[in-house]
Amino acid sequence: DADPLPLRIFFIPFFATGHLIPLVDVARLFAARGVDSTILVTPTNAALIRVTVDAAAAGGLPLRTLIYPFPSADSGLPPGIENISDLPPEESYKIDLAAPFTRPAHEQLLRLHRPDAVVSDVHFPWTALVARDLCVPRFIFTAVGLFPVSVVTSVRQHRPHAGVARDDEPVLVPDLPHPVFLTRSELPEFLRRDVPLRRFRDEYMEAETASAGVIVNSFAEMEASYSEYYLRARGLRSWFVGPVSLAISNAGLRGGGDAAASANRTRCLSWLSVQAPRSVVYACFGSWCRFTNEQLREMAQGLEASGRPFLWVVREEDGQEWMPQGFEQRVEGRGLVLPGWAPQVDVLNHEATGAFLTHCGWNSLLEGIAAGMPMVTWPLSTEQFINEKLVVAVLQVGVRASERCRSTVDDEPHVVRAEELARAVGKIMDGGEEAEGIRRRARELGEKAGQAVREDGSSVKGLSDLIAEIRDWQSKKKDVAADVVG
Ligand code: UDP
Repeated sequence: DADPLPLRIFFIPFFATGHLIPLVDVARLFAARGVDSTILVTPTNAALIRVTVDAAAAGGLPLRTLIYPFPSADSGLPPGIENISDLPPEESYKIDLAAPFTRPAHEQLLRLHRPDAVVSDVHFPWTALVARDLCVPRFIFTAVGLFPVSVVTSVRQHRPHAGVARDDEPVLVPDLPHPVFLTRSELPEFLRRDVPLRRFRDEYMEAETASAGVIVNSFAEMEASYSEYYLRARGLRSWFVGPVSLAISNAGLRGGGDAAASANRTRCLSWLSVQAPRSVVYACFGSWCRFTNEQLREMAQGLEASGRPFLWVVREEDGQEWMPQGFEQRVEGRGLVLPGWAPQVDVLNHEATGAFLTHCGWNSLLEGIAAGMPMVTWPLSTEQFINEKLVVAVLQVGVRASERCRSTVDDEPHVVRAEELARAVGKIMDGGEEAEGIRRRARELGEKAGQAVREDGSSVKGLSDLIAEIRDWQSKKKDVAADVVG
């Protein structure tokens, strides 16, 4: 038999670093299997992934970017604003509102290049329709796991909070594989009120039915029951291919290709190298969340009071007025405050790191799990409160920074006090049975994550199955074409 034609797949990431990084990793996984992989990306976002893509291409992987302009003039965003991190968090929704303006570019490029399959972010529902026209499968990339997707699906379907008087009353979310209780104030904003984005969310849901399934950065040992739930509830199949941070060898380079990030990398790793094994609390809150000065001050005091070494990534650019007086002198040698971008995956996998204080963004959560880290959870927005339930209640590999991270009255984040934070860190770092249990479960889960991406692992198999299906699709299409010609 002649070798089959190489598959050509287009990947279209959304304009948020937390969506971009894992989809580029997924594209790299396909490229490593010989699939000709093209990432459709706008200029600013292309710059964020350049180092990663260049390194893959230099290593001989068939991976490249195809750059299309971001429609600034039409979408109302100023030139250069192409990523959620470029906007203050309260304006982050503007990137969602701008997304539909990229539809013509996506359509044109897909029709011109006619790839064998499209893997596109959930924010781009129109790609499902174009793919259908081209008779090729479109796979959805949600950038989160099937646990949050399932919780949102159930809440949309059953509206369990309707008629519940209080915003802080925990309500059982029906039909899920585990009992999950959520208060109304823990729901993502688009489920709580009629925000402009709601219309889009409905459109994404409709486009699901025109899609072939979902590609998920997660692993079967952790989420298989949610894959079954999702198939039952939405009729959609799913393929696990993660954790991508483990499947990709130089994951620590992701999204931090500039000189400042590279200097940070050297600084972090040399600082960690002189810390005791499993002693350091690593605190980082993703790529776009921000805190008030009051909260930063409390956090500083909490980390200091924990008595542990800490590596704390701060993204707030406006000076350091929040720093408590004498803080830097007092924690010298014991605490590293790092402005900008940290090589997160490397830090999490460093032997000196012992705990992860996280906002529960899906990538961070999974990277923490993959590294076997116990976690202190501090959700701030979107589906992070749902992800927290997975960590604390379902998997039991972490504790909450505070019993209440979001005020139920006005949606403002509740200020987490220094004592609460120090206590939570103690709960997973101290001796004692509870802490031991959390650390043991985290370690064991990390081992399962590692197995999933090793030879014969469930995620390696997931990717093989998926590629085999796309090939099937490709050959059926060829048959149809031959029939038409014949
Ligand atoms: N990240 C990083 N260094 C940082 C901050 C973030 O490498 O200083 C990476 C992190 O490893 C993860 C992604 O950026 O892969 C953030 O995604 P996540 O879903 O955790 O949060 P989001 O940024 O979407 O809120």
